[in-house]
Amino acid sequence: MNAPVSSSAVPEVPVKRHDVATVLEQLRRVVGDDFAWSGGDTKAEPYLRDWHGDHVAAALAVVMPATTAQVQAVVRYCAAQGVAVVPQGGNTGLVLGALPLDTGDRVIVLGLGRMNAIRHIDQGNYSMTVESGCILQTVQEAAATAGFLFPVSLGAEGSCQIGGNISTNAGGVNVLRYGMMREQILGLEVVLPDGSVMHNLKGLRKDNRGVDVNQLFIGAEGVLGIVTAASLRLSPLPQNVVTALLALNSVDDAVQLYLQARKRCGDLMTAFELMPQNVLTLAQEALPDTVAPMSLEHSTYVLVEFSGAELVDVAGILERFLEHVMEDGILQDAVIAHSHAQAATLWRYREAVNEAQALRGLHLRSDVSVSISRMAEFIEQVEHRLQEAFPNSLVVGYGHIGDGNVHVNVLPPADFSTAQRLALIDAGSSLITECVMAFDGSFSAEHGVGRLKKSTFNHYADAAQRDVLHKLKLCVDPKNIMNPGCLLS
Ligand SMILES: Cc1cc2nc3c(=O)[nH]c(=O)nc-3n(C[C@H](O)[C@H](O)[C@H](O)COP(=O)(O)OP(=O)(O)OC[C@H]3O[C@@H](n4cnc5c(N)ncnc54)[C@H](O)[C@@H]3O)c2cc1C
Repeated sequence: MNAPVSSSAVPEVPVKRHDVATVLEQLRRVVGDDFAWSGGDTKAEPYLRDWHGDHVAAALAVVMPATTAQVQAVVRYCAAQGVAVVPQGGNTGLVLGALPLDTGDRVIVLGLGRMNAIRHIDQGNYSMTVESGCILQTVQEAAATAGFLFPVSLGAEGSCQIGGNISTNAGGVNVLRYGMMREQILGLEVVLPDGSVMHNLKGLRKDNRGVDVNQLFIGAEGVLGIVTAASLRLSPLPQNVVTALLALNSVDDAVQLYLQARKRCGDLMTAFELMPQNVLTLAQEALPDTVAPMSLEHSTYVLVEFSGAELVDVAGILERFLEHVMEDGILQDAVIAHSHAQAATLWRYREAVNEAQALRGLHLRSDVSVSISRMAEFIEQVEHRLQEAFPNSLVVGYGHIGDGNVHVNVLPPADFSTAQRLALIDAGSSLITECVMAFDGSFSAEHGVGRLKKSTFNHYADAAQRDVLHKLKLCVDPKNIMNPGCLLS
């Protein structure tokens, strides 16, 4: 374990009693009467509950500014009064980063949902400038309407916001071709903890004027400032997209197939999602009226998507590739979607995995990564250890195998009490983290650290790296008003 950080630990927000009525009055002066509520108001409720409904937070108030100037005014007021600010996007984060669970009487939640303008699409520059409260799906649709692709795509895209995607450096299903959110950022507009604004929305692809300060705010989980707008990189909209569900005999074969596809088909592959048999069966629980797209007799399935420009014969290339891997004995069976509707059904299975797990009640979820070359060995080992520890539970491992990212989850038996489930989550999480660290991996591949994984982060992070982070936080936010309790302690 690393030595604790002492010299540069972030200060506590000064504990000061705040009068809710006064705070609310001041916030309403900035945003208007209809857009600031006390923490006890029913309108504030959705902003104080996590996506799964497992946690409920408390706050002095929830405020919804509509402009960068309003965000600035709210932050200035809070900084002067010693009130902490928790920025919140779509509140779909899975590590409790946007919920003030530990600062009740001295914090407000600042929701970005009203800052949802698409400011500009620069067709010649392949870029668009959007406000941080834009829903991801809205950004994808606006880009597509203009003939471009905004490639970040994930299960929560109908609710999560660009600012949240930036602040968690979101991944999703297209990372292996387009990279994570970080790769889509050309510049940011950020309100800093003292209320000043960093403007960098020029949309330049090359700009080597020293350190790229934008990078500090990507994946920072709102602890350094509030992202109010972003200049995003766009890609050509693929004209030919082919989706297929492939049946295999093992995770090892899935990794081999992935490696072959990269070698033989270049960058045409945009998604490669592992879904073992028990995961597809589980997904069916959330799709009672849907007929399975193929027989589920094989142990391992992979959902792949290939895409390319108008002149690229994507379907032909995929078919030839599948013939090769079938001859090699890797591929056992395949279903190729021949319409948008068929492709949507295949993707529906992938999306239904989350819904089906939620239907099983409180359960253990993880989001880990190891190098792709050790993926099969890792999954086998961690699943074996979990099944041994929790023999009556369902252990599932699925995810973005092309990025070395797997979600290893444990669903307890239906008759487990809440206390038993919480004990399983605690013990199982430690076991998974232990395994992933033994494989030199990460205990948070996509979702971040938030409040949920903070102690694990403190335990495992490199001491020097953690020290740099604490010093950075002290420097940018010396009063520790920006999302205290999240990521750093
Ligand atoms: C069904 C489902 C599927 C998911 N799949 C994926 C996936 O495939 N890949 C993936 O990476 N994630 C996934 N997630 C997690 C989640 O959707 C992402 O982390 C998303 O990027 C969070 O965006 P949000 O707007 O909901 O942020 P929130 O949950 O509101 O906030 C997340 C963090 O960012 C901070 N924040 C939010 N907005 C701002 C801002 N404007 N400025 C500064 N800080 C801010 C918050 O304080 C918090 O720390 C999934 C979640 C669900 C529920």
